[in-house]
Amino acid sequence: MVLNVTGSFQLMKSLNRSLVLNIIRTETQISRTEIAKRAKLTPPTVSSIVSELLEEGLIREGEAGASKGGRKPILLSINVNNHYIIGIDVGTEEVRAGLTNLNADVMALHRKKLVPGLKAHEFMEIIEELIETILHEETDFSKIIGIGIGMHGIVDPERGVSVYAPHFGFEEMQMREQLEARFHLPVKVENDARAMALAELWFGEGTDASDIVVINVGDGIGAGFIVKGRLYHGRDQIAGEIGHMIVDLNGRQCTCGSYGCLHTVASGIRIRERVLQELTLGRKTAILDLVQGDKHAITGETVHQAALQGDAYAIEVLEEAGRFLGVGITNLIHMVNPDKIIIGGGVSKAGDFIFTPLRELVEKRVMTKSAKRTEIIPSKLENKGTMIGAVTLVLAELYDYSS
Ligand SMILES: [Zn+2]
Repeated sequence: MVLNVTGSFQLMKSLNRSLVLNIIRTETQISRTEIAKRAKLTPPTVSSIVSELLEEGLIREGEAGASKGGRKPILLSINVNNHYIIGIDVGTEEVRAGLTNLNADVMALHRKKLVPGLKAHEFMEIIEELIETILHEETDFSKIIGIGIGMHGIVDPERGVSVYAPHFGFEEMQMREQLEARFHLPVKVENDARAMALAELWFGEGTDASDIVVINVGDGIGAGFIVKGRLYHGRDQIAGEIGHMIVDLNGRQCTCGSYGCLHTVASGIRIRERVLQELTLGRKTAILDLVQGDKHAITGETVHQAALQGDAYAIEVLEEAGRFLGVGITNLIHMVNPDKIIIGGGVSKAGDFIFTPLRELVEKRVMTKSAKRTEIIPSKLENKGTMIGAVTLVLAELYDYSS
């Protein structure tokens, strides 16, 4: 493979270029004169940057716009299908790697299962193989501008390091360094829930807001905070670890060592555990019929299916998880007071069974009338949120929109 090192980094080099690009992106279509006004740059500077961007195929000339007398100006827009980004979503059970255009539309997707007991170097080999597959099968290398990774656990995005991945037990894994050395492309690494938050801000339910909290409720629970349009990390990168917010002082022990964490009462893992426990006690429920008696095949989705069929126990389990999420979210509203709370991840697919008790609790417990009405909505990015977010990390760099 021929590596085009300078080309890729070149795309991200100057501040004025990023500024011009970002103006074109946010305006969708704009003339050179208008860009000069917005960017406070001289028309010759804008002209030369625009020529460069046109030559690289990052933008294109479209139809002539409205004229205020004289020649109609040519409008410029982002050439979304001429460059690509690789986005990687690292879950606890599988890695999914996608190729997207500059609009984060997923054009190809490859996945690989992660087996328990995986070593750090084996894990990195899986990531490298997936990237190789995309580079060989899907596109021309020179068209790729970067790789973004949404990684489970604690991540230091400044250093591009997975500081601690509790599910695998990895510590201080130098993801960016290793992948940049291998692929000669810019690599960005971020925590998965934060990547998801960025995806909502750019492409999802958060595009009209500047302060949002995005909660990922799957097997684990994590959140990404966007404050004034920027991701909030905290000193030790643990801001948003709301799965370990304590909601029950006398609760069960959590994987983190503490007791009564939100994770122990509302996560996908907990929902499954609770169902299995009750089945052992002989509780009658349609859940078991749905998996033809195979207890190990029970997933959050099975519980949801049973609830849809009116199974009282399945409904009870989901509603309880919803109420506990409501407790966590009430705490969050009092702490952060965001414009909007967006919930993604497997558990959020249970819809009203989760959202109704959750909203009821928030309505009862939050302090002021207006804060009680904080919008709490499901994500529409489905299971692509983290991958789109990973891609957005690279886009943010391209448009110089520091996250
Ligand atoms: Zn915990």
